[in-house]
Amino acid sequence: MTDKMTLSKSKINTFIECPRKFKYRYIDEISEEANKYMLLGIEVHEIAEEIAGELMEGNEIDDIFLNLEYDEKLEEHIRGLEKFFHDIHSNGYEIFSVEEYIVDEDNDLNGIVDIVIRNNRNELIIFDYKTGSPRAIGKYKLELCVYKMLLESKYPELDVVSAGIYFTGAGEYRIANFGPAGADYFKSQSKEDIVDGDFDYVDGVVDNLYDTIDRNYYKKKRGFLCRYCFYKEMCDGDFG
Ligand code: SF4
Repeated sequence: MTDKMTLSKSKINTFIECPRKFKYRYIDEISEEANKYMLLGIEVHEIAEEIAGELMEGNEIDDIFLNLEYDEKLEEHIRGLEKFFHDIHSNGYEIFSVEEYIVDEDNDLNGIVDIVIRNNRNELIIFDYKTGSPRAIGKYKLELCVYKMLLESKYPELDVVSAGIYFTGAGEYRIANFGPAGADYFKSQSKEDIVDGDFDYVDGVVDNLYDTIDRNYYKKKRGFLCRYCFYKEMCDGDFG
């Protein structure tokens, strides 16, 4: 019997997008070439990690941005990060962790959480950075559920009360709350909730994914996204 695959939000999202794509990427291990959007995401994440690291060492936020070196094509994202870190700082949050890799053995999940901040009630708020255009929070609820599960597996004594996406280019938030919204700065940015049904949806997708691996049949999900798919040529010639 083969070992059960450990899942991540990227694996789950790829499976939802197209099971055949999931097979090419994660079963056959055919790596996708990084395109310019992926490279931008990597650069912005690296700079955000550097800034957060300096803040955690006690450096002044204005000095950090004054001395930051970056390619000018990143300008709007750097201004977005400046706003993000000023919001954290001026509203009394502290940075709890940055780019932390967590393995949740009970749920066969792993992942890296971009940044976690803590409020003065010792509650955690998760943020994931995205460099693309802002979209509604509904699209991201699954990955935010996965991040909460990961965080709470590692820190069971702490509550994750909200989770959100920060769009670095636009400087905009999309946030959902795990429970009633309070007076907290970030919670008050949002009226969205993540409820038990969202976690049930994650469980259902995960069950379906493991069933698919057992059956070893990965259905093609044809759609307009196929034209942008790295595996299109391979897929078109694959009649299995
Ligand atoms: S081309 Fe379409 S059907 Fe084929 S793997 Fe890519 S997304 Fe799936």
